[in-house]
Amino acid sequence: MRPRVIIIGAGFAGLNAAKALKNAPVDVLMLDKNNYHTFQPLLYQVATAGLEVGDIAMQVRHIFRKQANFRFRQATVTDVNWDTKEVIVRGGESLSFDYLIIAAGAIYNNFGVKGVYEHGFMLKSLTEAANLRSHMLKQFELASSHPELIETGLLNFVIVGAGPTGVEMAGALAELLDRVLPKDYPELDLNRAKIILLEMTDKVLLPYSKETQAYTQKVLENLNVDIRFKTTVAEVMPDAVKLKDGSSIPTQTLIWAAGVRAHPLVENLGLELDRGFRAKVNPDLSLPDKPYAFMVGDMAAAKDKLGELLPQVATVAIQQGKHVGKQIRRLQEGQRTKVFEYFDKGSMAIIGRNAGVAELSKNLGGFHLRGFLGWLGWLFIHLIYLPGHQNKANALLEWAYNYFTYDRHVRLITYMKTSEGETDLAKEHERQGVSA
Ligand SMILES: Cc1cc2nc3c(=O)[nH]c(=O)nc-3n(C[C@H](O)[C@H](O)[C@H](O)COP(=O)(O)OP(=O)(O)OC[C@H]3O[C@@H](n4cnc5c(N)ncnc54)[C@H](O)[C@@H]3O)c2cc1C
Repeated sequence: MRPRVIIIGAGFAGLNAAKALKNAPVDVLMLDKNNYHTFQPLLYQVATAGLEVGDIAMQVRHIFRKQANFRFRQATVTDVNWDTKEVIVRGGESLSFDYLIIAAGAIYNNFGVKGVYEHGFMLKSLTEAANLRSHMLKQFELASSHPELIETGLLNFVIVGAGPTGVEMAGALAELLDRVLPKDYPELDLNRAKIILLEMTDKVLLPYSKETQAYTQKVLENLNVDIRFKTTVAEVMPDAVKLKDGSSIPTQTLIWAAGVRAHPLVENLGLELDRGFRAKVNPDLSLPDKPYAFMVGDMAAAKDKLGELLPQVATVAIQQGKHVGKQIRRLQEGQRTKVFEYFDKGSMAIIGRNAGVAELSKNLGGFHLRGFLGWLGWLFIHLIYLPGHQNKANALLEWAYNYFTYDRHVRLITYMKTSEGETDLAKEHERQGVSA
């Protein structure tokens, strides 16, 4: 019988591990709580009415329909029995493996702040993104019927964290307010709507160069985003956010983009953890004392040559997924595994129309692009990585439509019921509030 490789998670790491095992003499079984892969970097576009839910997700079975050694099961993993080499899924069923790849990703870190999971919005799943869009549009409907409520913060949109997610969300929301919604709500004075970006440090896009930070700040300010530096959130309440300095901002829309931590599954596995609850891994990404099990992507505390933790970004997850797929092939062939080395290509973010930033790593010449070229580069890279030809075509068409008409057509208020998988995520959020 051929050895069985179980992969937990159909994210960037899991998908690439499975692809690297194509035609290998193993049977691959992928488990995910959803039946689809979510392209998380574009969730903010769903939340701001730029793209449809289906444009940024793809059914896992479809992705692997031509891979003969691949099987999928929609299942939520709750534990691993290392003694019997079995994965335990919700409902109690056990699935045995010879090799295991754990790639369940991350959740938002509330950093111990009360009320974040209960009253805040997060951009981690399709449902969250679509419901955030509906919630924000609903605020404008309410304001139209009851303009007196604007005084109570109805149209205050507070984003916490000026990293790439916070910056992209703020920019896209500002454009929605500036160019699209005035046509829908001629009766409303949209100058009364505010986007407030709260940042603990004194910089936007912390890891980027000073020039890029200054450019990003300027673009956001031109879009009327109110950036408040050195501002720390103390508590999130249903109708306000309380700050550490004792003041508060009235809002019913707080978007938490303040950083992530490893998926709580990691705490059930009896592993040694590093910063951000990420599991310590060997240089080849296998788990200590478990040469048959690998941890990849946002869950793994893999380090670079200087001993720094690698960032929790898609490019790391993709390369790690490919790497462990190849290592399992090597083990099958009786060879030793190789050390994982991250090839940093750089980072990019989009702030608004014709305004993107891209900083290529030294490995690729170290060029920095800002403005139209940065924006074009961002579009091109995201189209390349977005899985599925149809999704690429849909996204390209939507972007062209939005660009030339200054419109966004996905302005529907339709609440999505959370699937079993996403209800779990909410519970994990609560649980993290206890343990973080
Ligand atoms: C809003 C947002 C914007 C981002 N933008 C960028 C960007 O521009 N560039 C960039 O490089 N990175 C970006 N990232 C980070 C990037 O998306 C992550 O680093 C990447 O998704 C990590 O890949 P992964 O495979 O480790 O986990 P994920 O892609 O999160 O995949 C984890 C998978 O595991 C599944 N899963 C979770 N728990 C279970 C369970 N118990 N049982 C079964 N399945 C489970 C999930 O359903 C999911 O499919 C962004 C992230 C977010 C949230």
